[in-house]
Amino acid sequence: MRLYSTNLKAEEVSFETALITGLAPDKGLYMPKQLPMFSKEELTSMKGEPYPEIAFRLLRKILAGEVDEASLRAITYDAYNYEVPLERVDGSTYIMRLDRGPTSSFKDFAARMMARLMQYYLKKENRKLRILTATSGDTGSAVADAFYGLDNIDVIVLFPRTEVSDRQRKQMTTLGKNISALSIEGKFDDCQAMVKQAFADEDLKHMNLSSANSINIGRLVPQSIYYFYAYLKLKNYPEEIVFSIPSGNFGNMMGCVLAKNMGLPVKKIVASVNENDEVPIFLDTGSYSKIEPSKNCLSNAMNVGHPSNLARLISMYGGQMDEKGYIHKAPDMEKLKQDIYSIPVTDVDTKATIKEFYEEHNILIEPHGAVGIKGLMEYRKATKDSTLAVTLETADPAKFPAEVRSVIGVEPEPPQHLKDIESRPEHMEHLSTDYGQFKAYLQKKLG
Ligand SMILES: *Cc1c(COP(=O)(O)O)cnc(C)c1O
Repeated sequence: MRLYSTNLKAEEVSFETALITGLAPDKGLYMPKQLPMFSKEELTSMKGEPYPEIAFRLLRKILAGEVDEASLRAITYDAYNYEVPLERVDGSTYIMRLDRGPTSSFKDFAARMMARLMQYYLKKENRKLRILTATSGDTGSAVADAFYGLDNIDVIVLFPRTEVSDRQRKQMTTLGKNISALSIEGKFDDCQAMVKQAFADEDLKHMNLSSANSINIGRLVPQSIYYFYAYLKLKNYPEEIVFSIPSGNFGNMMGCVLAKNMGLPVKKIVASVNENDEVPIFLDTGSYSKIEPSKNCLSNAMNVGHPSNLARLISMYGGQMDEKGYIHKAPDMEKLKQDIYSIPVTDVDTKATIKEFYEEHNILIEPHGAVGIKGLMEYRKATKDSTLAVTLETADPAKFPAEVRSVIGVEPEPPQHLKDIESRPEHMEHLSTDYGQFKAYLQKKLG
């Protein structure tokens, strides 16, 4: 696999280089130059296989030659040791629960794979790596958990102090060992900007910094797998399927775009967002402006006013957008709109959907999943499309106890691993959004 930068000013690199460096030197995002196609026969042959086996067989072809087969098999089976349930709502609607991993967020799918792939390469070369990651809540905990205790890797997580739930914060601050947590007096976008500035800082080049955000291609590729899995559970090639994806930084949705480009018959990708509606407006009008500062919504992991992965999406459709959000070359908007439908969902509708699903279907969802469901309902209303659809639940409702309780009156029961962290001591440092202060912290900590 060869990868190019979406800014088109950096050299092509191998998968290993893209994985370890994260961001390209021209501040662009790495994208595979080519993707393999999976034929009807190949896909059909995987029907009925468990998740880790499907992940192994797909990745064996996607990452052909990058990781030896025995190691790749071991990695997928080790990473995906939990359930991926498809919950039936009605004859044409399913919820795929991506919330059964160790941190109860869909981000486990990407983080666990990326951590193990990095470890694979670092071990081979006896190298050390420092991961800097900005999180709007779930990334940090998933990344911290995925890397926890690994020998060759230190992790520093930046999170916006007031935008993460208590439980999300504790998942980052109670680990210790090679995991450090920084509470930032700002928003997710500030955290992301600080991390990006550190990567671009010549003074810090010697530190071997790497990112584990959704900008890392090592996270994106594993996020294409569950779309195949859902399809193989529910459909027979060449029947089509619709996915509704609650989106913030659009990494999850890009996984679906990759899957579609590898032969999965996806009829429509519904990218459901909260009140940060810059992408639906872009699809409607063709002109893009970020939302600064991003709006605070209930689905806090989606409070993103300028999604990094938009540059990748635009690149897939023949355009070019730089890291500041400036479009140098317009993508094929017609094709983009044919494949993707993006819709904003208000907090009021998010709550109403949680209530409706609990009362009418006896299904408990949390704010992010509710945005996905509501987006799908709106899509169906607008288009009359009744194709079988899978909407994603991206977190366990117990990660948002207050939000869920305020709507349905009961607090969701947390899984055991979330209960365990309640009583552990927290460790974190507090910083402002001042880059100089952050830089000084890194220099003191990492030398
Ligand atoms: C990160 C996250 C999202 C958004 O995913 P993106 O890839 O950033 O679009 C949705 N739901 C939850 C629970 C998340 O943690």
